[in-house]
Amino acid sequence: MKQDFYDVLGVAKSATEAEVKKAYRKLAMECHPDRNNGDKAAEEKFKLVTEAYEVLRDPDKRAAYDRYGHQGVRGAGAGGGFSSMHFDLSEALMVFMRDFGLAGGSSGFGGSLESLFGGSGTRRDRRRGHDIKVGLKLTLAEVASGATKTVRIKSLDTCPECAGSGAKAGTKPVQCGTCGGSGEVRRQAQSLFGQFLTVSPCPTCAGEGSVVHSPCLRCGGDGRVKTEKTIQIDVPAGVADHHYLTLRGQGVPGPRNGPRGDLIAVLDIKDDPRFERHGDDLVYDLAITYAQAALGAEVQVPTPFGQSTLRIEPGTQTGMAYRIRHKGLPRLGEGGHGDLHVRIHVWTPTKVTPEQRKLLEKLREIEDAPPEKEEGGKFWETIRRALGAFGE
Ligand SMILES: [Zn+2]
Ligand SMILES: [Zn+2]
Repeated sequence: MKQDFYDVLGVAKSATEAEVKKAYRKLAMECHPDRNNGDKAAEEKFKLVTEAYEVLRDPDKRAAYDRYGHQGVRGAGAGGGFSSMHFDLSEALMVFMRDFGLAGGSSGFGGSLESLFGGSGTRRDRRRGHDIKVGLKLTLAEVASGATKTVRIKSLDTCPECAGSGAKAGTKPVQCGTCGGSGEVRRQAQSLFGQFLTVSPCPTCAGEGSVVHSPCLRCGGDGRVKTEKTIQIDVPAGVADHHYLTLRGQGVPGPRNGPRGDLIAVLDIKDDPRFERHGDDLVYDLAITYAQAALGAEVQVPTPFGQSTLRIEPGTQTGMAYRIRHKGLPRLGEGGHGDLHVRIHVWTPTKVTPEQRKLLEKLREIEDAPPEKEEGGKFWETIRRALGAFGE
């Protein structure tokens, strides 16, 4: 179970941006890796507080988090999960530095990025392949029901000739002489918090610990070859435009059997001209005739799940909204559905047939006048409420 981001930073749900920033700065200074001699627990805490900070400092991400919890910004879902964050240490350090490093006025932080990030460049991270980003276009119907999308991507795959080792057939990579196979070199450096030890990837083998003397003829020693492939992405129901799906380990493999990057699908949801979307709720504008409004009627309205029957009550006014429960979009990670609001507009005909004219003229003679505004009354109350109801 993931810790609540507000608890992580020790701030109230109502905390201002400044309070979030202040809380983060204090915690990040305490658990900053440069202050903790490579202590793993401190490093994990640093990553966590930075992740919490990146969500809570951003009004959009914070709103998504407040609404959906971790699901809104990351977490599990069919086929991968939502993610806007998955910091490794160097990214977390970069966030800290972006917001506090230079502002602190310290030459230690303003100086060499190389030395600062050197400490975090673990062998594994360095060799990891790239993430692949793809855009996924979705219709509102697909958001409503969930969808399996097929995308074609250009990527790299493990070289079949050398099985990814990069070494020519009949040879093997050999241990790196510079680092003795560890992939790391250590040196002293200076930072905001004083002297510290940096561990950086070995310049000879780029952190791999081994070198290839006779490269594979097919891949030139890289261990990867170009490929194009089709992949399927399961999109859970109820996603929104600010979400993206991360398929772990579906990105480009690292060179010479390095770990794979992720595949990140950025969602692009096409507007459906029929509906206005307000989170999980939808609004549909329905025009009805004066007679339907006055006498009541049964009408068909579209929903993302097909047609639905709506009973219009006698005496329905323009601006009144009917709610069809559970016909909105699925609630991501919560179960259930939002509602469909049907906003009524009484339609006035612009052309009338002779027969209609006769009836309308007759009606005009005998109908009641609408209520005066000063009297207040239900009609004006309805209009006032309607104008405020969906305004943003
Ligand atoms: Zn090869
Ligand atoms: Zn080396």
